[in-house]
Amino acid sequence: MNTFQQTITLAGRIGVEQAKTYVYLPFEMPGDATRLDIEFEYSHRIGSSPLLEGGNTIDLGIFDARGIDFLNAGFRGWTGSERLTFFISETDATPGYLAGALIPGRWHLLLGLYKIAPEGCEYTVVITISSQPGHQSTEPIPGPVPEFATAPVLPREGGWLRGELHCHTYHSDGDGDPVSLVRMARERGLDFLAITDHNTISCQRELAQLYAPDILLIRGVEVTTFKGHFNVWGVGDWIDFRVLRAQDMTAAIRFAVERGAVTTCNHPKPFGPPWEYPEVEGYHCIEVWNGPWYEMNQSALDFWTERLAQGKRIVAIGGSDYHRRSQLLQDPPRALGTPTVWVYVPETADAAAILNAIRRGHVSLSDEPEGPFLDLRAETDTMAMAGDTMRPSPSGRLTVRAECHRGAGFVLQLFDHRKKLFEQALTQPQTTVRAALDVRESMFVRAELRDPADNVRALTNPIYLDFAPSALIDKAVSQHYNNHAGR
Ligand SMILES: [Zn+2]
Ligand SMILES: [Zn+2]
Repeated sequence: MNTFQQTITLAGRIGVEQAKTYVYLPFEMPGDATRLDIEFEYSHRIGSSPLLEGGNTIDLGIFDARGIDFLNAGFRGWTGSERLTFFISETDATPGYLAGALIPGRWHLLLGLYKIAPEGCEYTVVITISSQPGHQSTEPIPGPVPEFATAPVLPREGGWLRGELHCHTYHSDGDGDPVSLVRMARERGLDFLAITDHNTISCQRELAQLYAPDILLIRGVEVTTFKGHFNVWGVGDWIDFRVLRAQDMTAAIRFAVERGAVTTCNHPKPFGPPWEYPEVEGYHCIEVWNGPWYEMNQSALDFWTERLAQGKRIVAIGGSDYHRRSQLLQDPPRALGTPTVWVYVPETADAAAILNAIRRGHVSLSDEPEGPFLDLRAETDTMAMAGDTMRPSPSGRLTVRAECHRGAGFVLQLFDHRKKLFEQALTQPQTTVRAALDVRESMFVRAELRDPADNVRALTNPIYLDFAPSALIDKAVSQHYNNHAGR
């Protein structure tokens, strides 16, 4: 069959005042198209790191003839500023892009103007469309990615599973393929893994083809806007990233939550890149620990504890944000599981059980898969754990028990919403510390393990305390205790 090629060249200029907005370049897709090729060029290109300034960084994406409406667009791929060329055919595509029917009608190339230099930016796009006269596609239009067919993970002793929930492949700006990341996660001894490429679900489509018998794979994406990133776990939908205002951010998070996702505000710290929507809420978790602790994670921890002190119950979570092999040579290295997320799932676990445990705050963080680990409990008949709400006795005396694994040389610290309540240096690898606390003024108790340089090596979510006398609370608490019976 003869193949014909049509080439469209678009050129333009972008002014510095357009920075941090989106530009759409429309073109027509004919009915008999079989392949689309894009070549993009622009002036004074610099890297996407928030530390680099003075040049241009432009993200590239594309929408098909289903349109460009916010939250409901015909998403066909995104690679940020990583690539200047890509293709989409009916059966194959550049990583980051979605193969499938080339729906006839008006398509839009998306330019995300992340950084524009003071002198502006000149760009050229060459669009090449291959077609075969009379061709009609029988390939599907890409939709949400179905749940992965991975084997359930058996419970471990103590009921805690460990995993990684934030990392990247070459489907966005990483250098690894999905299969090699799954292998690395297994080698690190992790039980579950979510790969969260920026703004695209193409990695999830590839993982859906894979059967991983000995690690639990969870669907994920990192929604990456100009002023903040959030992770979405447990759904296969594409989530819109074209957020220009706080209300767009709220709407995008709500869109994910309504579909059943667990969401997290990512790396709210300088150069995170930072989270610039402090007023936006609606996410379940805050990533208080992104990569090695010394990389300014104290700011993210402070962002979380400020919200806890306001009475918000948001789950502390962590992730390595691993991108590329060179990060393994850093000192300390940024590998999968740095930090490790421990989730309490005492029964046989699937992705839904992991995500439910995260929603409940049954989460403890550690600097490595084999690093120190804390299990914090309130010594009551229900043994309330991190994430639970419990009612202390009216006297306000509460004994908490911290099981500290691999903690020798570190200091256990217990905090409420205002201050440090307790501190003890650990000398043995395995220690169970009992602390009798006065919690009359406390909203919660949470634990940290710090090393002599004051780096966090492990931390827990809070055990929330509820002194409210209402009958409604009584009912909620007894219901809660019933749910925990038999632990
Ligand atoms: Zn990020
Ligand atoms: Zn990331």
